[in-house]
Amino acid sequence: MALPSSQLPRLASAWVAGLTTLALVGGCSSGTSGSAGTGASGSGSTGPDGAAGQIAVAAGFYPLAYAVQRVGGAHVSVTNLTKPGAEPHDAEPTTADVGAVKKARVLVTLGGFQPSVDALVAQATSDQRVLDAAKTTGALGNVHSSVGVDLHFWLDPTNYAAFVDAVGTTLAAVDPANAGTYRTNVAAFVADLVALDTAYATGLKTCTSRTMVTGHQAFGYLAARYGLTQVGIAGVNPEQEPSAKDLAAVAETVRSAGVHTIYTETLVEPKFAQTVASSTGATLAVLDPVEGITDASPGKDYLEVMRANLAALRKGQECS
Ligand SMILES: [Zn+2]
Repeated sequence: MALPSSQLPRLASAWVAGLTTLALVGGCSSGTSGSAGTGASGSGSTGPDGAAGQIAVAAGFYPLAYAVQRVGGAHVSVTNLTKPGAEPHDAEPTTADVGAVKKARVLVTLGGFQPSVDALVAQATSDQRVLDAAKTTGALGNVHSSVGVDLHFWLDPTNYAAFVDAVGTTLAAVDPANAGTYRTNVAAFVADLVALDTAYATGLKTCTSRTMVTGHQAFGYLAARYGLTQVGIAGVNPEQEPSAKDLAAVAETVRSAGVHTIYTETLVEPKFAQTVASSTGATLAVLDPVEGITDASPGKDYLEVMRANLAALRKGQECS
């Protein structure tokens, strides 16, 4: 299975060590190529509901579900426990979601981010495998906001890559017959994330403004990686509404730091951002924390929304 190193995707050095142990086949797998009729059926390793030989996976919200879909391709059937358009912090799983969790072979969660999903996952049985991103080595560093620990790890593409690697390990353990496909898909997705990271590092290198004012404090990882300072209008959870005093403090920062753009989100009402903008003369732009994808999102998947976010940041932070 070993291939010449020339076929390795260009990976950040931190990733090469972990990935050279993987069998990398080709460079552009879509996750579905070569899957038909191989491995999955008859391997005895499929999930309890086994539709079309797929592994049933329940994932807490979009970035978790997207990673599983990219890595698992045609071999997985993913249920996103946060419905499109819902804000994942306060997601309330439906009866159907509870059923999906019970039937899932693999549960993917971010402990501490969605209390109602945590409560469901706590009831997992011994034949279900739980992958908690909060316990994945390298996914979460120690990014603290002014109101607690930031769990929005996927907004730093390199942290997201660590989680993607863990998804591959989990699926390979559950379905060894297709381990090679999962490893190939991990490598392809990580290569996408490394390219995204490079685009951010380059695109945000020379910005007139290094202070970014966001809807809620979701962008701590992104700010830390690319040398920006985040000022969140709401806390790490958008349900934590700012007080009039909080809004006045943000407005003062906007004036003193010369901020000209205030970012709003796709899934959260922009009323507080509008309040700060109107009191300071700043303009509004969308910066999406990629907590969910809807028709209103500035892209159809994580990679597209992150590219749109980079364009918004380059304009809003006045980068040359
Ligand atoms: Zn959030």
